[in-house]
Amino acid sequence: MAALLMAIYIKGFDTKETAALTDAMLYSGEVLDFKDKSVIDKHSTGGIGDKTSFIIAPIAAACGVKVPMIAGRGLGHTGGTVDKIESIKGFNTSLEMNDFKELLYKNGLVMIGQTKDIAPADKKIYALRDVTATIESIPLITASIMSKKLAEGTSGIVMDIKCGSGAFMKNIKDAKALAKSISNTALRFNKNIMTLITDMNQPLGFAIGNSLEIIESIETLKNNGPKDLTELCIQLAGGMIYLAGIAKTHNEGMKKAKEVLNNGLALKKFRELIISQGGDPKYIDDYSLFNVAFEKTEVLSPQNGYIKSIDGVKIGLQCVELGGGRKTTSDKIDFSVGFIIHTKLGEKIKKDSPLITIYHHKEQLELVQSIKKELLESIIKISNTVPKKINPLLIDIKTSWSK
Ligand code: URA
Repeated sequence: MAALLMAIYIKGFDTKETAALTDAMLYSGEVLDFKDKSVIDKHSTGGIGDKTSFIIAPIAAACGVKVPMIAGRGLGHTGGTVDKIESIKGFNTSLEMNDFKELLYKNGLVMIGQTKDIAPADKKIYALRDVTATIESIPLITASIMSKKLAEGTSGIVMDIKCGSGAFMKNIKDAKALAKSISNTALRFNKNIMTLITDMNQPLGFAIGNSLEIIESIETLKNNGPKDLTELCIQLAGGMIYLAGIAKTHNEGMKKAKEVLNNGLALKKFRELIISQGGDPKYIDDYSLFNVAFEKTEVLSPQNGYIKSIDGVKIGLQCVELGGGRKTTSDKIDFSVGFIIHTKLGEKIKKDSPLITIYHHKEQLELVQSIKKELLESIIKISNTVPKKINPLLIDIKTSWSK
């Protein structure tokens, strides 16, 4: 297998070969098939501060889409959807398949962790890719993602392909190649697919860390969220509504998404999700229930200027150092720690105004000093002049319908 991985990494795979590998990995486990046009999911290739799932699933469900979300845990610099939602006490992410299907049809949304029955070959192959340095291969990434997504039995998938310094795909050319490979594979399996290439040259929203990200998600569902996060969620949820056939165009889907965000129906769906999976809904109205670290350290800007770059991967790694992520799969997560960033790329900043707040524990003061140094020396760069080019949030979007 190691030799095959290396051969694929070096020589590539065409569409037919990628589909064959995906097929073999998909059928290494259980494959659901809802045979229902309104069953649609979204997947992201992974980014920093990416909490869109908690917002788009309730938005789409409030518009009539059925969202069977099987999400991952965090490893390395990116956090995991399943870890984040577990910061709401009692929320059960390991449901039996029958309960999973029942809740999907009862509420229109359900959110669980990867089970050992879904594409088990991917877990083994991913571990082997990790030690053979073959992670960064477009056909291998395609087969890995699609074997898990196709197993959910949806009729369509909205794929958020992150592009930039905080993502797997560092440039637009590679992101487009991955989008094409994923679309081609989806079509071979008769799935409708929308690919969006979105900027990941800075974290999404302001919050990084498990509890902090869920609080920001709830604020977004209350229509008080960061602009970039809200805009991306409308795009993604609009795409799901469109693929489900509930809207005639993506634009119409986005209009419906905005409506349920404005009239509170999306927040109501999120409440249903929490209650139906055993979580405490009081967290939605009272953020003091969240486990958030008591100690806060503000990092101030050392100069006047403009935010030139924010290294998301390095912030993600520092969050792992604080305990908010995993270095190995058996590590326990600390929901309470993380960061709130106060600025965005290109913004004007004054000397001594807050750049970022670190949420930590008393006994981590030495670590916090080293994180502070890293933040000022290599994570957030400030220039004296306005940065020349800042990518738009949405770089490219394509929809492909099967037959
Ligand atoms: N996400 C996955 O699930 N697999 C990859 O190979 C890359 C990103």
